[in-house]
Amino acid sequence: MAEDLDVVIIGAGISGINTAQRIQTQLPGLSYAILDARASMGGTWDLFRYPGIRSDSDLYTFGFPWDPWDAPNSIADGPSIVRYMEKAAAKYGIQNKIRYHHKVISADWSSSQQRWILTMDDSKVASVAKQIKGRFLVIGTGYYDYNEPLQTVIPGIETFRGTRVHPQFWPQDLEFSNKRVAVIGSGATAVTLIPALAETASRVTMIQRSPGYIMPMPREDRFANLVRRIFPGWIAHRLVRWKFMLLSFLLFHWCRAYPQAARRLIAKVAVKELPASIPLSPHFTPAYNPWEQRLCACPDGDFFKALRDGKAAVVTGHIKTVTPNAVVMEDGTEVEADILVTATGLKMQMFGGIALSVDGQPLGDLAKKVVWRGQMLQDLPNLCMVFGYTNASWTLGAETSAQFVCRLLKFMRRRGFSSAVPTVPEKDLSMKRSPMMNLNSTYILKARDSLPSAGNKAPWLPKVNYFRDLFNALWAPLDGLVFTKNPL
Ligand SMILES: Cc1cc2nc3c(=O)[nH]c(=O)nc-3n(C[C@H](O)[C@H](O)[C@H](O)COP(=O)(O)OP(=O)(O)OC[C@H]3O[C@@H](n4cnc5c(N)ncnc54)[C@H](O)[C@@H]3O)c2cc1C
Repeated sequence: MAEDLDVVIIGAGISGINTAQRIQTQLPGLSYAILDARASMGGTWDLFRYPGIRSDSDLYTFGFPWDPWDAPNSIADGPSIVRYMEKAAAKYGIQNKIRYHHKVISADWSSSQQRWILTMDDSKVASVAKQIKGRFLVIGTGYYDYNEPLQTVIPGIETFRGTRVHPQFWPQDLEFSNKRVAVIGSGATAVTLIPALAETASRVTMIQRSPGYIMPMPREDRFANLVRRIFPGWIAHRLVRWKFMLLSFLLFHWCRAYPQAARRLIAKVAVKELPASIPLSPHFTPAYNPWEQRLCACPDGDFFKALRDGKAAVVTGHIKTVTPNAVVMEDGTEVEADILVTATGLKMQMFGGIALSVDGQPLGDLAKKVVWRGQMLQDLPNLCMVFGYTNASWTLGAETSAQFVCRLLKFMRRRGFSSAVPTVPEKDLSMKRSPMMNLNSTYILKARDSLPSAGNKAPWLPKVNYFRDLFNALWAPLDGLVFTKNPL
């Protein structure tokens, strides 16, 4: 007999653990478990182990709202984030609810049972339950494929005789001291890796087809540390969180409203940070406007410092070919390398690759579906996908979804409803669609045709603004959801 739970959460990352804390605190009588394919918690922060791995966001908003980040640094490295998550989960006994090695491969909603029936891959670990049932399913599987990175075509790369690495699968024994390293890519991963590698490598070169925006940011926030000296813990935590929430909100909207002014400001900062030998153009003049793609932060300007110290360099242009020991650019520039890092991005994946169906009927083309308030999928009963923000700390978005799940579960319990299905009314079926993620980063653009979309009117609008989304999660009418009573 499959175990029967009230709520099943898939994913023991930031999203899953935050939802678990909210559910067990607000709905203490419900039974729940977190299923995760991996052997430990942390998700992204456990998987990525490349040198220098750290957050881009401040931990006051990236950390859980219910467990204040209390270290003096606002930006943290990967291992510290995992330790913080483990400690926070232990405080609430959440770690006992996690079932590791539980890779969910399919989830079928059974209308007759009013439950999700989850099937696990039990081929590798004998103790794994083959099936688990749940009345409500929370998907906190993140947004990318854990097993396969984004594939890009780099001519001649197979001829390279040195070591080739993708940051998603960084070999822990890779020796890069006194080696020449070429990093292909210009996103957050490349910007993080370069100063870390430059500490001991003989030379690190960032090879970018097109530049991104990079902004220095203090590793420790003076306001946060001052406030924490003056006020007691919880008050200080709230003040600092609000500062960072408002700051990122205002920065994003200012960049979107005044892109030329934002461009000028970021360029001015970069010119101040760059050594005279590296010109702003073409290396730091992106083709897109600020915040059309995620803005990269570099703590205490470490990326620029590596350039100033002459330990790192930037090459901008198209790669002609890779030879056994170098990357050759179309303009003839040759970057010799012992190690080639392809920091070319993540492969997006919805629902952790789980095959979803309703009464045995596969969900079908995801691109044809619309997302209800950024968290429930058209026609799927009792399922919430937890997606964070790309224009602010992920956790803020995960929190609005967790709050919504609790509200919905309480509402259904009060009214005796057994299912809630987002249903697009006939008159809105032809509404204008827009991408559910409002950035045009390469990995998002490449996946657009396989992602569900948002609509152009409530409640189908995308989730992009913490303040509005939290209001909606807690108080907005539940229009668009069709409820059924089936007291099974
Ligand atoms: C290198 C890197 C740096 C980042 N830095 C930031 C940052 O500074 N700020 C920010 O806001 N965001 C950042 N992000 C985005 C980041 O992914 C989120 O911030 C956040 O950690 C995602 O949490 P999550 O719990 O939603 O998903 P994840 O952390 O991806 O966790 C998903 C979990 O689900 C499990 N899972 C997946 N599929 C299945 C399945 N089929 N069955 C069972 N379990 C499954 C995985 O094993 C994993 O444990 C970064 C992302 C990356 C890759």
